[in-house]
Amino acid sequence: MKRQKSQALWDRASELMPLGVNSNFRYWGDDATLYVQRAEGAYLWDVDGNRYIDYRLAFGPIILGHAYPAVNARVREALDSGVLFAMTSEAEVRVAERIVALCPGVEKVRLVNSGTEATMHALRVARAYTGREKILKFEGQYHGFHDYLMFSTYGDPSAYGSRRSPIPAPMTSGIPRCLHDLILSVPYNDFELLEQTLRHTWHDVAAIIVEPILGNCAGIEPLPGFLAFIREQCTRYGIVFILDEVKSGFRIARGGAQEVYDIVPDLATYAKALGNGYPVAALGGKREIMDTIGRGVSQGGTFCGNGVGVAAADATLELLQTQPILETVAERGRKLQAGLRSIFGQAGIQANVHGHPAMFSFSIGIHNPADQRAWARSDRDYYLRLMAALYERGIMPDYDPREPWFLCYSHSDADIDATLNAMEDVLREVKR
Ligand code: PMP
Repeated sequence: MKRQKSQALWDRASELMPLGVNSNFRYWGDDATLYVQRAEGAYLWDVDGNRYIDYRLAFGPIILGHAYPAVNARVREALDSGVLFAMTSEAEVRVAERIVALCPGVEKVRLVNSGTEATMHALRVARAYTGREKILKFEGQYHGFHDYLMFSTYGDPSAYGSRRSPIPAPMTSGIPRCLHDLILSVPYNDFELLEQTLRHTWHDVAAIIVEPILGNCAGIEPLPGFLAFIREQCTRYGIVFILDEVKSGFRIARGGAQEVYDIVPDLATYAKALGNGYPVAALGGKREIMDTIGRGVSQGGTFCGNGVGVAAADATLELLQTQPILETVAERGRKLQAGLRSIFGQAGIQANVHGHPAMFSFSIGIHNPADQRAWARSDRDYYLRLMAALYERGIMPDYDPREPWFLCYSHSDADIDATLNAMEDVLREVKR
């Protein structure tokens, strides 16, 4: 595939922007960073004109398809009425009504602009509500770029210490040392360790924040009963249960992980699929907790409830509410998962396909990883080589094995077949 134009853009951009990109995750190397021309439906074209079937979908937001006509039409209408007022529009109220109708645990909601903002505000609300300061998170879970939760997210688990006494490992320079004292991190899906940790610390813990499916660690799912166990522990100790549905929300079901796993959190955070790619996000939850906002708890922002994001959310949620979109996405995802299992089986490669059909991945050389420590023993080198070979055939999941494959409504059966055919070829060509 041609790469000359991407390379020329990287040469220009790297003089002007750190790593030549506007978000670290978009940098793939000095001679491997692609630049995009456009995207439509399930396809994306890079600046050299190469076309890909897109399974990155912007890290998950695109649930309908790129440049989806019904969403774009609603956004265009909104543009002509102005998009930012420092006042509240009826469309914002309508989006709040839709979110409350769809999400079992959400009685009240505030709109923000990104997942990072949503989790940051959720932490403040939980701390204010409980009068406690510590936050418990799980290893391998990512909740945005703010300082409070960038511990033990996508790092090498060898930095996390012993499983019995995990060390919350900061993922970047620049995080104040004092924030280290406010974080507890434990491996996911470990009932006993969670119980033990809380037995000793509960009186300091404001919130447990959970990515229900590890959307930043290959789509690992909760073990049966684990989310219910977190719910029970939170209720027992008066801890706020924050379900981070930034990746799972409006993707794995209309009511997200709350619906799929039959769980009612105290607070939930949304972004990504809420606006099919436009900047809009939300935090919501129990009335009593959300009502602390404005009564001693600050929350707001110039762009919160902006007309563009809100119009996109209004159109996206209306479609999800009225059409069997997520059922179709899941059906295609199941077909892709089944096809991959069968191809790996025929090739004699031990590969574990895990996650929800709308966001899943596979790990090579290990069985049923339940947490990031177990997953890190998978053959990630081989995964990278497979992805490089898929790109050459116009199939684009993320190259990073932590990032799931995302499906959208615009992926057709023919796209799934083309992907499986490409994978068959690739497994013949790229040996472990
Ligand atoms: N929470 C989760 C679970 C996420 O996956 C992400 C982003 N990948 C975030 C929060 C942060 O969202 P954003 O990038 O919109 O700030």
